[in-house]
Amino acid sequence: MPGIKKWQYTKGLHEIGNGIYAYLQPDGGWGWSNAGLITGDDSNTLVDTLYDLQLTHEMYKTMQQQVTSHLSIGNIINTHSDGDHTNGNQLFPEATIIASKSTAEEMRHAVPPQVMADMLKKAPPQAPIRKRLGAFDFNGISQRFPTETFDREKNIVVGEKQVRLLEVGPAHTLGDTLAYLPKEKVIFTGDIVFAEAHPVVWAGPISNWITACNTILALDIDVVVPGHGPITDLSAVEKLKNYFLYIFDEASKRYQAGMSALDAAYEINYDMFASWKNSERMIPNVMAVYRDLSTTPEPENVHTIFAWMDQWEQRHQEG
Ligand SMILES: [Zn+2]
Repeated sequence: MPGIKKWQYTKGLHEIGNGIYAYLQPDGGWGWSNAGLITGDDSNTLVDTLYDLQLTHEMYKTMQQQVTSHLSIGNIINTHSDGDHTNGNQLFPEATIIASKSTAEEMRHAVPPQVMADMLKKAPPQAPIRKRLGAFDFNGISQRFPTETFDREKNIVVGEKQVRLLEVGPAHTLGDTLAYLPKEKVIFTGDIVFAEAHPVVWAGPISNWITACNTILALDIDVVVPGHGPITDLSAVEKLKNYFLYIFDEASKRYQAGMSALDAAYEINYDMFASWKNSERMIPNVMAVYRDLSTTPEPENVHTIFAWMDQWEQRHQEG
C-alpha cells in the first residue's frame, strides 16, 4: 500500500484506490469539510455532502468529470448532523440517505440553514461570523433528512465493496458514524478525526471520543479520510487520542481547583499541538471536560461559546 504522502492536500477529488475517492477542501477550517465517493455499479455512495449547494454541485461535477459522466448516486451516508456534511443532500432527491438514528434526530433540531443565512445577512461587515462563514451561501437550502436509520452498526454493500457503518457517538455530535471498508483498509471518519487541527467537542463525553479512537486504532486501516484536513493514517488517530487524554487531565486539575473553564482554556499549555489549526477550540473542549465532570452541568449557549472563541482569536492575533 502506498504511503499517505501520495495524496496532496489540494482541493478536489483524490483517488484512494479501487474506486474509492476523497474530496478535499483545504484548509479544513470551519465549514471546509471533506467528503467521499465509493463507486459500485448503480449504488455509488457519497460519504457526506458539503456546506452549501454550490460547493456540493461543484463536487458532483468534478466527480462526473473524473469518474464517469453518468454518475448516479444511490446512497448518501451522513457521518453526522452538522450542516457542512449534510446541507448538500437536497441535490440528490433520489438517493437513500443513511445515518444513525441519533444523527437523524439531531438534524431535525439543528439551526436551519435559512436562519444561518438570515444571521449572516444581518451581521455587520466586521462581525466574526462573516469571517468564519461568509464564504458559504445558506440561501435556498431545504434540508433532506435521512431516509434510512440504524442503531450502532449497519453493513451496506456498494457494488462489490463491503462498507461497515459504526456509530461511535455521542462525541463530536450525538450520533457520529464511521464508514469503514475492511477489504480496502480505508476509513471515512467524519468529524471524529480532524487532521492537523484541534477537534471540537460539541456533544461529548470525551471518554466516548477516546473510545472511538481506540475502536479505529483496533481496525486494520491504511488510509484515514478525516472530516477536515489532509488524508492521513492511524498516526493522526493516535495523536488525537493523546490530545484528549492530555486536555482531560489538565482541565480536570483546574476543575478540582475551582478555576473557571474559560480561565483553564487560556492557561493550559498546548505547545505540543502548536502546529494544529483552530486553537480557539480549546474553549469548547475544556468546557466539555467540565461538563463531563460536573454532576449539575450548566446549559451552554452556542452563541456565547462562539463569542469566546472570537475573543480568543483576537487576543492571539494581537499578541
Ligand atoms: Zn465538519
